[in-house]
Amino acid sequence: MRPIPHPPSDRLTEHVTIAIDGPVASGKTTVGRIVAQKLGFRFLDTGWMYRAVAYLGIRRCVDVSDSPAMTSLAKGLTIRLDDVEGHERLLVEGQDITDHLHELQVERGVPVVAAISGVRRALVPQQRAIAADGPIVMAGRDIGTVVLHDATVKVYLDAPVELRAQRRHMERRISPNSPSYQKVLDDLNDRDRMDLHRSDSPLLPAHDARIIQTDGLGAEETARMIIELVDSA
Ligand code: C5P
Repeated sequence: MRPIPHPPSDRLTEHVTIAIDGPVASGKTTVGRIVAQKLGFRFLDTGWMYRAVAYLGIRRCVDVSDSPAMTSLAKGLTIRLDDVEGHERLLVEGQDITDHLHELQVERGVPVVAAISGVRRALVPQQRAIAADGPIVMAGRDIGTVVLHDATVKVYLDAPVELRAQRRHMERRISPNSPSYQKVLDDLNDRDRMDLHRSDSPLLPAHDARIIQTDGLGAEETARMIIELVDSA
């Protein structure tokens, strides 16, 4: 991953890692980006990597629940995250697939793909290799528990499901064929259920994570709380 240019920070020499986990639409990406920008760290949304595998499976007409097929697909992928004019892009074999990562089919397939241990075994080493390159904020479901279990700061963002669905519904409202609030809520509940109950790396706060309830908190305020944790770590 090419580092996204940010203002320099003293912390770049310390190799601080910040793990942000939480359920769907808990604010991980928005908050993670703000923290990364303020500290001059890189940001990696690991959800994009699982989405990339799901998207490619669907595009190649592979059954996303076929563990051996999806594992071999994930093992053969070189995923690259790039910064194009200030926007993060995800490239697979040189092709920019970013705009497909939030399609409905991908959204439905991704928790199925993410429950396959072979897929996780293919992606986690790539995530650790990216983290080994320097200070980073990494968001996902298993960052504090598995990927960076020795992260400098671990946080778990949460909020009531109705509020998270409202946020996601607002984000999607501008797109054509945007789903109803009820549809968004149902999909979000389904995805959370699958992420919580899978046997490999389920969504779970690490024992040493700070749990932050984000209802009533703005993204900037949440980011400030995380930066305070980094400062006192
Ligand atoms: O964060 P995002 O909603 O983009 O993640 C998409 C899906 O990828 C999650 O619902 C989950 O199934 C999977 N995921 C995961 N582990 C991560 C990041 C995402 O299992 N570290």
